[in-house]
Amino acid sequence: MAAVAPTVKAAALAPRDGRQALPSLDRLLGRAQTVALLHEHGHHAVVATLRTVLAEARAGATAPERAGLPDDDAMLARCAERLTAAASPRLRPVFNLTGTVLHTNLGRALLPQEAIDAVATAMRMPSNLEFDLETGGRGDRDELVEGLIRELTGAEACTVVNNNAAAVFLTLNTLALRKEVIVSRGELIEIGGAFRVPDIMSRAGARLHEVGTTNRTHLKDFEEAIGPRTALLMKVHWSNFAITGFTKTVPDRELAMLAHASGLPLVNDLGSGTLIDLSAYGLPKEPTVQAALADGADLVLFSGDKLLGGPQAGLIAGRADLVRRIKRNPLKRALRVGKLTLAALEAVLRLYRHPERLQERLTTLRLLTRPEGDIAALAARLLMPMAAAVGPGYVVRALALHSQIGSGARPVDLLPSAGLAIAPANVGRGRGTALKRLEAALRGLPVPVIGHVRDGALCLDLRCLEDEGAFTRQLPRLALTPPTPAPSA
Ligand SMILES: *Cc1c(COP(=O)(O)O)cnc(C)c1O
Repeated sequence: MAAVAPTVKAAALAPRDGRQALPSLDRLLGRAQTVALLHEHGHHAVVATLRTVLAEARAGATAPERAGLPDDDAMLARCAERLTAAASPRLRPVFNLTGTVLHTNLGRALLPQEAIDAVATAMRMPSNLEFDLETGGRGDRDELVEGLIRELTGAEACTVVNNNAAAVFLTLNTLALRKEVIVSRGELIEIGGAFRVPDIMSRAGARLHEVGTTNRTHLKDFEEAIGPRTALLMKVHWSNFAITGFTKTVPDRELAMLAHASGLPLVNDLGSGTLIDLSAYGLPKEPTVQAALADGADLVLFSGDKLLGGPQAGLIAGRADLVRRIKRNPLKRALRVGKLTLAALEAVLRLYRHPERLQERLTTLRLLTRPEGDIAALAARLLMPMAAAVGPGYVVRALALHSQIGSGARPVDLLPSAGLAIAPANVGRGRGTALKRLEAALRGLPVPVIGHVRDGALCLDLRCLEDEGAFTRQLPRLALTPPTPAPSA
């Protein structure tokens, strides 16, 4: 505004809300700082952001409580902040200290270096994704991993789709369209979010025939249910829950014999199918894909990013004639995986050919089998840096914890672990708020730290923390305002 002494007339014309004092877009664009912004973010984004910031300032200026108007520098700083935020990736790395190794919301399995390298190469160069290098003719992308799956599991054939939910869907849609699928009532599970066995089944066009009760299902329940409309018998791994006490399930072998005697296939949705005997590593036993096939399943369905330790994928392994039918379903095209998934999956499967080094190279297995003593030693090392970072408002202690495998491995089997528990120092009111503030501050770090709250404290299970340096380096940036002491009652 021109610095002239206001006459009566000018004062009457000037807007009372001070909007006139705002800089114009052109003036802001002409500022020296803007040149750097234009170079980094481009003309379009800078102008759009400046317009938004100006509009907000104008809107704010009309509010009576907004006395001071932002000056040029403040507006440009706000603009730069917005542009930087908009330019930073939405998908960000985090520290998974939840104690759940295969955490679905945090992206499940971490891939081994061999897979990372294979994906990088597949991104950079053309590849023989569907090209037969011997004949020069068209190839089949499933064949890139089929040989390995056959070798490792004993399956005759294999096909790969987007995830295990897709594997279940495609299998049922191919083999049981407008027909019945017999499943034990005790296995009609929901696995987080939107995966419910009965829903998938009806969307796949199959009719669900439940047998038995929640806790007990007998072979004769299946026997009596088999009829002319039956397409297959299905077994679903219990995944994320446990039924204990007065229970009865039909062993795989008996179920397979019954199915085969009736000329029907048995499909086993293993969920977190593993290829190795986890008990040999001191872990809770999980059914293996090999065992499920050996016990008579005609098809075994399992995830790529659960215990297998690979990329998100769904594997359908088993009888060649059934796999062939599944691959001919036009929906296979809609559910197939891309070259990056196949590159990662092939590299991960290859690691299983060298069992002696698997524990060291397969990240998931390495984390699951990490010795409790190592984790406790890490907790002891991090105790003081963490206490210094959170300040006097919180009490930090090292303690024994129990990790979970996650992603549908038996939820009752826990892995001895260790970590830190951070609790608000004050014992009165405001504890809940202080805990929330702590969680938010840890999430606000450059690499957000995710823990879990238990008994009024934030627990950080250190099993999955391998990069100790990166973790401690960012701790001083923990922006925790000291909690206001609760008023003494
Ligand atoms: C996890 C799971 C699924 C779904 O697998 P996604 O790979 O997550 O799609 C299906 N069935 C069972 C038994 C599971 O444990």
